[in-house]
Amino acid sequence: MPDTLDRSGIDALRADFRARLVGARTDRDLKTLNDEFLSRKSGSVTALMKNLATLAPDAKREYGQLVNTLKSEIETALAETRAALESTRPPAGAVDVTLPGREIPIGRIHPLMRVRQQVEDIFTRMGYEILEGPEVEDDYHNFEALNMPPDHPARDMQDTLYLAAPIVGGTWGAHKGAIPEAQLRAATLLRTHTSAMQIRYMKTYTPPVRIIVPGRVYRRDNLDLSHTPMFQQFEGLVVGEGITLADLKGTLEAMMHELFGDVKIRLRPSFFPYTEPSAEVDVSCQGCHGAGCGTCKQTGWLEILGSGMVHPAVFEAVGYDPDKVAGFAFGLGMERVAMLKYGVDDIRLFYENDLRFLEQFPL
Ligand SMILES: [Zn+2]
Repeated sequence: MPDTLDRSGIDALRADFRARLVGARTDRDLKTLNDEFLSRKSGSVTALMKNLATLAPDAKREYGQLVNTLKSEIETALAETRAALESTRPPAGAVDVTLPGREIPIGRIHPLMRVRQQVEDIFTRMGYEILEGPEVEDDYHNFEALNMPPDHPARDMQDTLYLAAPIVGGTWGAHKGAIPEAQLRAATLLRTHTSAMQIRYMKTYTPPVRIIVPGRVYRRDNLDLSHTPMFQQFEGLVVGEGITLADLKGTLEAMMHELFGDVKIRLRPSFFPYTEPSAEVDVSCQGCHGAGCGTCKQTGWLEILGSGMVHPAVFEAVGYDPDKVAGFAFGLGMERVAMLKYGVDDIRLFYENDLRFLEQFPL
């Protein structure tokens, strides 16, 4: 019989338990430890007890106390750890505020709509009325009244999309602004420009006139980098006594400054059947500030819109007296403005609805 008790088995088991407890993170870990050490049938502590039978009576008591102490140590440690886990667990149904938020998909305003809203805002502040017109038009409003009688060569300037069969009356009700009965004619084409609305407005109202007409127009164009068969325009029309070319230039300057910042504009003589004189308007290139670069083809200028003083023949067509009133008109493409403003080099991108493109614009 050894005079000192062999405690190495008990100490080893204690050390083993302590090490295992450090790694216990869940209720399941604790249950495993409990089973492994304290199970009545196969627990390691239970197994130690089985050694008792081999010991002398004195040693038996001492050994029994040591094993019992280890057993209660393990029980206490397991209970404490279980309580600690319990206290850090969120209550049932609680929200974990540390989880990353779920992103809600938010739509953006389309770049063309942004341009439209900005232009409408600019002209609303200048006292213009904003209105739309029918996209399905008749020959009279789209061509004839705009100084382009049936055989006029200028009709060829715009490749027109004609309807397979004319539409007679009644189908325009959905458009903003009712069309007076007297103006209803059989529609035969998709309007090639928003200028048709100049005629409708002037036939309905007397001067002074100050309107902006945004909307879709259609031409028989192929789809390429700079053309689409459908695109969007702004028509501007001002009529009153003593309106001059200087008013046109001042108005366009104000619009371009708001759209593009500190830019210059220049007017180049041009030809449109419904204006005289007519002018193409260029805006100074922002890319090179006039020095010449690839964007402006080394000219320092970018063509932005067409304009001019309303032709007397147009006033006569709508019943205005060209000796008493004068006016100016201009038309510009929303896509053209958006391409220059946002540096987009392919017009098709505006109509492909590719989110990778659209998401590049701010909310
Ligand atoms: Zn340039």
